[in-house]
Amino acid sequence: MKYADLHIHTDFSDSTFSPEEVASRAAEVGLSAIAICDHDCVDGIAPCAKAAASSGIEVIPGIELTVEKQDAEVHILGYFIDNKADWFLKKLKDMRAARVVRIHKMVEKLNAAGIDVKAEDVFKLAGRGAVGRLHLAQAMIQTGKVKSFRDVFGKYIGFQKPCYVSHIRFSPQEAIEAILKTGGVPVLAHPGIMNKDEYIPELVGYGLKGIEVYHTDHKASVVKHYEELAEERGLLMTGGSDCHGMGKGKALIGTVRVPYELVEKLKAAATPGTR
Ligand code: AMP
Ligand code: ZN
Ligand code: FE
Ligand code: FE
Repeated sequence: MKYADLHIHTDFSDSTFSPEEVASRAAEVGLSAIAICDHDCVDGIAPCAKAAASSGIEVIPGIELTVEKQDAEVHILGYFIDNKADWFLKKLKDMRAARVVRIHKMVEKLNAAGIDVKAEDVFKLAGRGAVGRLHLAQAMIQTGKVKSFRDVFGKYIGFQKPCYVSHIRFSPQEAIEAILKTGGVPVLAHPGIMNKDEYIPELVGYGLKGIEVYHTDHKASVVKHYEELAEERGLLMTGGSDCHGMGKGKALIGTVRVPYELVEKLKAAATPGTR
């Protein structure tokens, strides 16, 4: 049987693994296909594909875009996107610039709240990657003032917590349409984390084609729920580990895997002709 892990980050966003390391680890854990889904960045795809070529692993070009509803963070994955379209690359660059501004704002708020985290330390942790809250969380923990991710996100920088600042440049509709315009397949990431099923019909109305049924943070009952929902609504099912390298403590690559048939269905739903 061939298996795929369809949700992997690299150090072009907030994973500690380089694209080359992702490729070698994918081979070690016996995957046949992987999708690189960095936040607001596609630069990890080509180096990963090059490194994976010798082991015959298929690298699917992907992306993870964040949008918001008034009371929820919504992550939209794109599969088989055109990672070379100029207009898309420019949009992503704008989004990464907004991430930098946002870190400065969040650091200001945290400093005012007594957490003496420094923006330069956050950027150092991010290195070449699209800077984000996972880097900020790591820098906050390094100060010794906050002990765990649970406290960091639960008390300070989780969605709409006191030191949260948005970096959103797309509405849900725009994000889905952008992915479609690149010929890609838009899929709702980890709906169990979003925990607002009531938004799914609206997203489907914009062109959403699938949901990420299998995910590290989905327990068995949640998986079953979304299998049924996908079935009912005729949506594609995807799954992946959401591996962030050592960024969340341990390497998750391959721990959530889906049969390759699901990749074939995704591929059939892509529309590269429209690029
Ligand atoms: P950003 O794209 O900067 O808004 O950061 C989003 C990333 O922060 C997610 O992809 C996760 O890696 C991380 N994150 C968000 N919420 C949590 C949480 N409650 N616990 C751990 N990591 C989180
Ligand atoms: Zn992340
Ligand atoms: Fe996500
Ligand atoms: Fe992710």
